[in-house]
Amino acid sequence: MREVLLVLNAGSSSLKFAVYPDQPGDRPPILRGKIAGIGNRAVLSARGEDGRALPRGQLFPVAPDVGHDRLIPALLDWIRAWQGGLSLAAAGHRVVHGGSRHHGPARITDDLLAELDTLKPLAPLHQPHNLAAIRIVAAAVPGLPQVACFDTSFHRTQSRLAQLFALPRAMAEDGVLRYGFHGLSYEYIASALPGLLGERAEGRVIVAHLGNGASACAMRNRRSAATSMGFTALDGLMMGRRCGALDPGVVLYLMEQKRMTAEQIGHLLYDESGLLGVSGISNDMAVLQASETPEAREAIALFCYRAATEMAALATAIGGLDALVFTAGIGENSARVRQGICEHLGWMGVTLDPAANAANATRIAASDSAVEALVIPTNEEAVIARAVRSLTAG
Ligand code: AMP
Repeated sequence: MREVLLVLNAGSSSLKFAVYPDQPGDRPPILRGKIAGIGNRAVLSARGEDGRALPRGQLFPVAPDVGHDRLIPALLDWIRAWQGGLSLAAAGHRVVHGGSRHHGPARITDDLLAELDTLKPLAPLHQPHNLAAIRIVAAAVPGLPQVACFDTSFHRTQSRLAQLFALPRAMAEDGVLRYGFHGLSYEYIASALPGLLGERAEGRVIVAHLGNGASACAMRNRRSAATSMGFTALDGLMMGRRCGALDPGVVLYLMEQKRMTAEQIGHLLYDESGLLGVSGISNDMAVLQASETPEAREAIALFCYRAATEMAALATAIGGLDALVFTAGIGENSARVRQGICEHLGWMGVTLDPAANAANATRIAASDSAVEALVIPTNEEAVIARAVRSLTAG
């Protein structure tokens, strides 16, 4: 029976999965897909080995109102019955927070799970779901080797200065540090850079991961030197619904003068701000680009301005800029946003080739641009599959 590796990325209302052959080297997934709207109106979509969407008849029935605890075992049964039978050799999970101790992926043990439980307060929106998925898989397939891949690990190469807040020392000792996120995406991009940039890959590179969540990372020698997200995934760039960097005095004002509770402020900053809050229309960049309203235009302009100023600050951490990389939904698809950001960064030597940019080409810099500019589709699942292979081999 064909042995496979399962990659899971469990969010609060979504579950992304990919199934890879358990063979050395990067190979395309046999199956990949997503269950969206979990707990409300769950919908499954999936693609087969040829990348084509699977017809409904080949999917498994998903009851609309069931949770991860029922969906994950059903998904495992479906995968194991796929094409005459697949045998699960190991599973890998995206785990948002690995704290300051984990510099790379780790094999799941009871001790590790207990340690990761203690980090739930640092990532309350993601960590509980990530860990629940690991426990559900362990219960469904006892003894299956499992690996946790952390979004924070890639940033543990940063200097102490890059990780410190200017708060009393005791707070840093208590874990109030800039951890950084989107690490699996940055790791994938770092692995793809040599093939595109040659020796320049080891130079000063800023990667902009622009999706619903957005952040940027300054790399040197393909390692993280600084990043825009901090203690939480709220800091840094403006996002779909999140505000990004904010004067902490605004939070005090909302508490003291507006009498808002922590829960209300959390909802405002995580769910009602960003593109949605500024446009009043949508958190979705494609929707805003199709809108002619001044509010939509201003939201896109602010997104580009905030991204550019954050990226310029990151360039200080690496002493300048040799290459700029755009990735994730907006970074890979929105020529308008890439152009908007690069106009602000022109003083750093970035000039785009308009035709290449409009075509979402891999190389989008003008021939006389001092700084290289690339569009690289990210692949977090491939990074997790690599980690599972290396930690469970033999
Ligand atoms: P992600 O979180 O990486 O899936 O990215 C989601 C974001 O990418 C949403 O804001 C989408 O509107 C945006 N996006 C995807 N395709 C396009 C496109 N063709 N043009 C503009 N934005 C896009």
